[in-house]
Amino acid sequence: MGFRRSSEKYHLYDHCACDIVNADLEKLSSFDFSLTGIVWRAMKLEEFQAKKLFRKYGIPVPDGIMVTTAEEARSAAEKIGCPVVIKAQVQAGGRGKAGGVKVAGTPAEAYIAANSILGMDIKGFKVERLLVDPAVSIAGEYYVGITIDRSKKLPVIMVSASGGMDIEKVAAETPEKIFFKEINPERGLRSFEAKRLAFRLFQSKKQALSAASIMVQLWECIHGSDASLAEINPLAELKDGSIVALDAKIVLDDSALFRHPVEEGQWLPSPSEEKEYNAKKHGLSYVQLEGEIGCMVNGAGLAMATMDVIKHLGGTPANFLDIGGSSSPEKVIHAMELLVSDSNVKAVFINVFGGITRCDDVARGLVAALKEIQTDLPLVVRLTGTNEEEGIRILSEYGITALKNMTEGAREAIRLARKEGGSR
Ligand code: GDP
Ligand code: MN
Repeated sequence: MGFRRSSEKYHLYDHCACDIVNADLEKLSSFDFSLTGIVWRAMKLEEFQAKKLFRKYGIPVPDGIMVTTAEEARSAAEKIGCPVVIKAQVQAGGRGKAGGVKVAGTPAEAYIAANSILGMDIKGFKVERLLVDPAVSIAGEYYVGITIDRSKKLPVIMVSASGGMDIEKVAAETPEKIFFKEINPERGLRSFEAKRLAFRLFQSKKQALSAASIMVQLWECIHGSDASLAEINPLAELKDGSIVALDAKIVLDDSALFRHPVEEGQWLPSPSEEKEYNAKKHGLSYVQLEGEIGCMVNGAGLAMATMDVIKHLGGTPANFLDIGGSSSPEKVIHAMELLVSDSNVKAVFINVFGGITRCDDVARGLVAALKEIQTDLPLVVRLTGTNEEEGIRILSEYGITALKNMTEGAREAIRLARKEGGSR
């Protein structure tokens, strides 16, 4: 496979997203991802969204405000009351170590901290949002996480008294400090099981009982939201003795997203995800890449093959775009809009193999799209399969010549992109 995502946004084993197995994730994200890597997307919530879900299930979390500018961070700090903690919101852990978590003593300091964190690159994610939380005095940091153990085919809860930013080291060097308990998914995590675990972390009965109820709530949260990971690190013991979740990590299961509408506030695309998200709403699978040939293809497999052929012939694909099985004209219009809006695109290669998708439908959609969208981008169409004669006729009436061979089409698109290079 010829393309890679440098970030950990697309990966096969979403349970590896948890802090404890982060090392595995690093290895995974250096692979070239295959088809599956795109189709099964792990929906990692940012902390502020995960905390919203935690709140819904009764887990105590600080009452913070999500902001997108330094000015907003300053007014949030005024509203909350200082000190506050300013936290980068990205779909990755290790923000503390990367300098993405800063305590501010005054609103002016909050402004400065926000300014320095916004735009930061943390593990390939650009910081576009911040969470401003009331800062607290921490007496101890604990770890509680629930994920799916795929070898046992059961949920498992992991707890440790050595939580905080070095949990990966604890997992690697002193694994005996982490306690595991499998959860019977039908009965759920039972209160006595949670208490047994909590008493291994806390001496005080009051604290152990409140940690135990948080564990049960965390189970209800992962179960109720169809998540594959729910993690609190640190679960903090404050100077006043109370126990709160200072960090929140949730990975939702992509396949179950339809059961959890975005309107519930569970997942909000960040500005850079907006494009892929809107594409999805129009029934298109779109992944932006950095090349110069905009691709529009029917079927994920053919879309991958198209990108491979372009790369093989020395070109670079600008995107993965699968317009899906039955291609209505509206879909083709949206797809064309996506390609045209990418300023890196120097030529468009439309590769359609008509099976269920009918070539005449695609041709009509394309003509409608070109009437609506004014563009001088060179266009290469490869059209073959069901109703191809009709499709080719419709296109030629509009002055477009369709090729029948994919390699030829890719070569032509690359040639035109080179020729047009810089004209845009
Ligand atoms: P992560 O590094 O991405 O996991 O981000 P966390 O949310 O876990 O924050 C990293 C560290 O920042 C935590 O382990 C805490 O030690 C510290 N931290 C977070 N919130 C607060 C706070 O309100 N007060 C103080 N003093 N430290 C905090
Ligand atoms: Mn953390």
